[in-house]
Amino acid sequence: MNFKLPKLNYAYDALEPNIDARTMEIHHSKHHNGYTNNLNNAISGTPLEGKNIEEICQSENLSGAVRNNGGGYFNHCLFWNIMSPNGGGEPSNQIGDAISNGFGSFENFKTEFSKAAATRFGSGWAWLCVKDGGLCVCSTPNQDNPIMKEGCGGTPILCLDVWEHAYYLNYQNRRPDYINAFFNVINWEKVNQLYLEAL
Ligand code: MN
Repeated sequence: MNFKLPKLNYAYDALEPNIDARTMEIHHSKHHNGYTNNLNNAISGTPLEGKNIEEICQSENLSGAVRNNGGGYFNHCLFWNIMSPNGGGEPSNQIGDAISNGFGSFENFKTEFSKAAATRFGSGWAWLCVKDGGLCVCSTPNQDNPIMKEGCGGTPILCLDVWEHAYYLNYQNRRPDYINAFFNVINWEKVNQLYLEAL
């Protein structure tokens, strides 16, 4: 399979002021595009060619290039999908109930997820996953993700990129402000759909 950079469902400036247009443009058209091209190069002519991105991430003994670029490809595809200019607020539907049941309240979930994102040292991601019928929060370094062998084993339904390339132009060293702003653009309808599919 030749992986392709997915189109966004919204314009680069659609998430402003929470995420600025320049950051979105560079992040999608340069960073994600780079992971996509490097992934295609890394799997070309190997047994991984023709597998889907989940199968690649779940494979044993990933080379550094496949791990970094396969993870980068998968992670950003999910990230773009779970944001929306009409997002934010508190979730209702089944995911709202599951968050209340799993974390006690939405505020408790927000605190736990934000802590995972803020305390990930260096570059990485924070995640909300479905695992054993419930929800869990975790974080991963670099472009690793929960479905890799070293991951939590859950199915990711929400993620936040905390690499500096995701926020530095607008937020500089203020990662907590970026994390707060992210909550204004979460597409809970999409997260609910992913939650139901993952159960
Ligand atoms: Mn990124």
